[in-house]
Amino acid sequence: MSGIYIHIPFCKKACYYCDFHFSTSLKYADEMVDAICKEIKMKKDRISGQVGSIYFGGGTPSILSQQALQKIFDTINRTFSVSADAEITIETNPDDLTPQKLKELKQLPVNRFSVGIQSFYNEDLVWMNRAHNAEEAETCIKRSQDAGFENLTLDLIYGYPLLTDAKWLNNINQAVDLQVPHISAYALTVEPRTALAHAIKTKKQIPVSDSQSAAQFVLLMDKLIESGFDHYEISNFAKPNHYAVHNTNYWKGITYLGIGPSAHGFDGQNRYMNPANNAKYIETLESNKLPEVIEELSLQDRFNEYMMTSLRTMWGTDLKKIKTDFGVDFFEETKHNLRNFEDKDWLIFDGDKIKLSQSGKLFADHIASELFIIEE
Ligand code: SF4
Repeated sequence: MSGIYIHIPFCKKACYYCDFHFSTSLKYADEMVDAICKEIKMKKDRISGQVGSIYFGGGTPSILSQQALQKIFDTINRTFSVSADAEITIETNPDDLTPQKLKELKQLPVNRFSVGIQSFYNEDLVWMNRAHNAEEAETCIKRSQDAGFENLTLDLIYGYPLLTDAKWLNNINQAVDLQVPHISAYALTVEPRTALAHAIKTKKQIPVSDSQSAAQFVLLMDKLIESGFDHYEISNFAKPNHYAVHNTNYWKGITYLGIGPSAHGFDGQNRYMNPANNAKYIETLESNKLPEVIEELSLQDRFNEYMMTSLRTMWGTDLKKIKTDFGVDFFEETKHNLRNFEDKDWLIFDGDKIKLSQSGKLFADHIASELFIIEE
């Protein structure tokens, strides 16, 4: 079943490291919601079957009012057939999850929260310039669970200069103790044009250490696997039967609709991308045009993407699928390229599947890129 991703491009504050598309001004929030609804309606023919997942990402979707979110849901329901058991996720920030907001969210068909905790330490949250504090990080989960939201996933960040291994273990333990069924954890990366990149360039901030990130990734894997989580994708850990439907569909190459500024969609062959510009997005839709640009993916592009995404999952890369979907030449070249890994313990060969070993998980992107097929 297809998915729908909706990008809500507003945040209260700009986090130090963030390069997602967002604005800290809500001045045009109403116009944005109208434009999003219009884009949904204009893409009504893009999904023929049922919708199996809806994901509100951003930005900070929980910043929108209940009425605004309801308007988007109403439009989706009038335009598409949403499966009765669809996974419907909304990204939230801890400071938004007040008792009143939870009551409002309960009125919506949302059944999963992704909560941007990042750290349970105040000093770290201040360093990141997050909008929430440590107390809110702690209390929002319990409050959400008490309000009947059990299907929660927490985001954590590791590998930043302030985070000692002891603090990182404590963050992981706190997340586990909160009894959430899903945890996503990301190594801090320094993206160009962020405040963090500027601070490092001007020597106001020390660079991020790869060895620290690698060591903390190992701590993360050990602790979460020991706590009963499946490591089903490099950055994602879930209790059995709690794998994220929406993200798993991305990794499995299932089609999804991308709605909102900077969102991209995939129709099984090509990708569609909207401009990362709120004014341009709204204006284009106001003139009854879709703001997207189409990125035509060659067979090679699709192969390389399949390699990159599948290898990061616990299901691994399927050599049989390579043969049927990409042809014998891609299959033979992949087998040839795999020989470069024979003397390393990074890959596990499991019948027709190639999977990352524990040590290989530390080099996932590098291994995938070595297996890419590049046109001569
Ligand atoms: S809340 Fe999320 S999207 Fe917004 S600035 Fe922070 S990291 Fe970026």
